[in-house]
Amino acid sequence: MRLGDAMRLGIMIHPRQAFNASVRYSEVVASCALSAAGYGGYSYRGAIGDTLDRHMRCPVCNGPQTVRFIIMCLNDTHRWSREKIADWVDTIDETPKESVIEEGELVAV
Ligand SMILES: [Zn+2]
Repeated sequence: MRLGDAMRLGIMIHPRQAFNASVRYSEVVASCALSAAGYGGYSYRGAIGDTLDRHMRCPVCNGPQTVRFIIMCLNDTHRWSREKIADWVDTIDETPKESVIEEGELVAV
């Protein structure tokens, strides 16, 4: 699953956004952009090649970081909405989009 899509699924699970949240509560009531991606089913593919570990620059403060820390920068420092962060992630994600075959679609053989 692509990172941005997992984030959007996580937003549906936790409609409330969390900021600077390092405390774990017994009941999760809100999530930051990064944890939303985890709850949405994003599976980390390891340090080599995963979108989260790519080095980029934060689109707001231009700080060089990994995508993982840029997501935190956008969520906690710049207070972007998670939807906006997911949209940004889509622009830098090189993971191929999964092609969906709609029900009833004719497949040529
Ligand atoms: Zn920043």
